[in-house]
Amino acid sequence: MTSVLTTTDAAATASAPLISMTDVCKTYEAGEIKVDALSEVNLTVGGGDYVAIMGPSGSGKSTLMHILGCLDVPTSGRYLLNGTDVSAMNEKQLAHVRNAEIGFVFQQFNLLASETALRNVELPLMYAGVRPAERHQRALEALDRVGLADRVKHRPGELSGGQQQRVSVARALVTNPALLLADEPTGNLDSVSTKDVLNLLDELHGQGRTIVLITHEHDVAARAARVTKIMDGRLSEGGF
Ligand code: ADP
Repeated sequence: MTSVLTTTDAAATASAPLISMTDVCKTYEAGEIKVDALSEVNLTVGGGDYVAIMGPSGSGKSTLMHILGCLDVPTSGRYLLNGTDVSAMNEKQLAHVRNAEIGFVFQQFNLLASETALRNVELPLMYAGVRPAERHQRALEALDRVGLADRVKHRPGELSGGQQQRVSVARALVTNPALLLADEPTGNLDSVSTKDVLNLLDELHGQGRTIVLITHEHDVAARAARVTKIMDGRLSEGGF
């Protein structure tokens, strides 16, 4: 089938939100017991937004993060990411969308301890089939971007927590994803490193990056341009 994008379609695509969740529900079933981890979640995130999702333990943050990050699909409801309906995709399709659209930053950094910062940042490009010379160059640029140009040969154990998280931000950015999804990115950091990483996220937002940050900490959420709270699997705009 030939697809012709008309001017109207192109304009609609350009103005479409990056994330559009409508009535998203997630129910876990363990035998007789059902847990409604997410109930009718509606969330819209435009390109360039910086949104914090905040809630206490057990409120549904991880479940929402997994669905936002295309690591899982809703039980019901619709999730459009960058105009594509990902609500009912299979694992292979989800993996493809994840690689193309999302850069992840995790609380535990998830860096390979035996590899240098440079190799860690190169990895997503290896999976994407980018040639060695280009991925080397792009990884160097990403590390420079997060202020670690002089640490590229260091292994994670030779870096501070804040520096390790900067490496993982570089790894998330190196594929130039539409969305940076940060799950408790400062949860393992001291106050100095926390400030350091939050300042970096501010800078990236200032440069037009779309960021969704999941946290249970008020101070961290307050750095985002917009705060949504989650409680008992329900999402609402505004801080606590
Ligand atoms: P948070 O990340 O805010 O701590 P979660 O999304 O992990 O919250 O959990 C939301 C609710 O769903 C909790 O009641 C939790 O016990 C339940 N839950 C999470 N994962 C599962 C699962 N795999 N099976 C059954 N219940 C789950």
